[in-house]
Amino acid sequence: MTIEIGNIALRERVSQFLADDPGKLLIGGAWVEASSGERFSTIDPATGAVIAHVARAREADADKAVSAARTALISPAWAKMTPAARSALLWRIADVMQEHLEDLAELETLDQGKNLRTSLFGEVPAAISQFRYYAGWPTKITGETIPTSLSRTPPGKEVFAYTRREPVGVVAAVVPWNSPLIMTAMKLAPALAAGCTIVLKPAENTPLTALYLGRLLQEAGVPDGVVNILTGYGTEAGQALADHRGVDKLAFTGSTAVGKRLVSSAAGSLKRLTLELGGKSPSIIMPDADLPAAIEGVSRGIFDNGGQVCVASARIYAHRDVYQDVVDGMAAAGDKLRLGHGLDSAADLGPLVSRAQAERVSDFISEGRVEGATVVTGGTLSGPADTFFSPTVLTDVRADMRLMREEIFGPVAVVTPFDDLDEVVGWANDSDYGLAASVWTEGLSNGHRVASALEAGTVWVNCHSFLGPELPKGGHKESGWGYENGAQGLENYLETKTVVMVI
Ligand code: NAD
Repeated sequence: MTIEIGNIALRERVSQFLADDPGKLLIGGAWVEASSGERFSTIDPATGAVIAHVARAREADADKAVSAARTALISPAWAKMTPAARSALLWRIADVMQEHLEDLAELETLDQGKNLRTSLFGEVPAAISQFRYYAGWPTKITGETIPTSLSRTPPGKEVFAYTRREPVGVVAAVVPWNSPLIMTAMKLAPALAAGCTIVLKPAENTPLTALYLGRLLQEAGVPDGVVNILTGYGTEAGQALADHRGVDKLAFTGSTAVGKRLVSSAAGSLKRLTLELGGKSPSIIMPDADLPAAIEGVSRGIFDNGGQVCVASARIYAHRDVYQDVVDGMAAAGDKLRLGHGLDSAADLGPLVSRAQAERVSDFISEGRVEGATVVTGGTLSGPADTFFSPTVLTDVRADMRLMREEIFGPVAVVTPFDDLDEVVGWANDSDYGLAASVWTEGLSNGHRVASALEAGTVWVNCHSFLGPELPKGGHKESGWGYENGAQGLENYLETKTVVMVI
């Protein structure tokens, strides 16, 4: 069977998935309705049409899912699985995802809005690469033997001490809507590598690829209860997981406002907590930069995915010698992008994720205009559901304006001229956020100097948004706690146990 969106026919497996009532919860290996029987709809943001009705999980469902995850944690099928077998399982997940790459990409685009090329060539492959990268880790999780100097050793005996690295336990993974499958993979892959079990809560706007992935995990042979999936609202299913005493670790990616609230939720049981939060990333363009590359890089950095990217290059500081070229170049790059349904191959940029998000972005621009900002290009909302926001370049934005200080999460760049390097580093650091930054220069020493001075979890030199599963990613300041990716990403899911023996 084939479902059509406008005049675009969906892929057969996607059509089948949608026709087969995909909206149940995955708990303990079974697809079930929410305890209340309630559902909510997920919407194609380009058209406003309902794509599917999915289960609305609440506290009772969180209880069931956490209990299933606890059971699976100590089940022989999981707890006794050898590291090599866990490794093979992660690789198999990647293989199964690869077989369904185009289906996952189409579904992500339909649900989130992003252009299909972004899903197909960027995000789904990036999600798969998380599983391939972490597939290498289970066989390399080792403790240490530790020589001790304890004076209480009985005569004739000695102390033998070592550490074991153990899975932290049941993980609640709560993810946002901007890049749903990548965000999911960034939590599932290291958590599975460490031997944890998981309750995943996708964002209410974008539950579909998580539900599709749930089927793929089963196909790959993930034991029942090891990954459970609860669709629902943040304040209901999400909050229930955050408060739950059966959850050992909360791995959250989302807004700084919610992240701060979760600190108190986690305090109840002192569950482990990592927070990957918002940003307002600066990009500094030096006079010696390769200007076409810089303009292209920062334009992509803010316009890709409609600016709904945590590390988006939202604040551009261009040296006065190149300022006008940067403003003109970014405006031209924005104007060139054709807005259209994510599945329309003639389009470059899809809608924002929802009408609410589009209105929020629009409000920022209206407020900025009143406060004196100049809209060089963009700033308009269009489309059948009023969700398409045109790529926007603003100048004359003061440091105290909300446009400069708050995360907009839309395709909105603010460009400001600077004269002096120390001055601009001060401006770049004048933010509550500290997620990422970039500097564009052909000068090696300036590159190093600025990379060292910027307060950010990631600094790119002559590139932006270059991310990979082996590169630690996390936020300084109010952009988060802890790091994902790489060895540090695995640490999030491990506890250390020290064993001291008198022998
Ligand atoms: P959000 O904070 O509103 O929601 C994120 C997730 O948390 C969703 O699944 C939501 O349902 C859930 N949630 C909401 N309230 C909750 C509560 N009280 N208890 C538990 N869960 C709750 O964020 P969003 O609007 O979905 O996503 C955009 C934000 O995510 C932006 O701020 C962006 O910068 C951030 N983000 C950060 C990173 C990173 O790696 N640092 C990556 C992507 C997105």
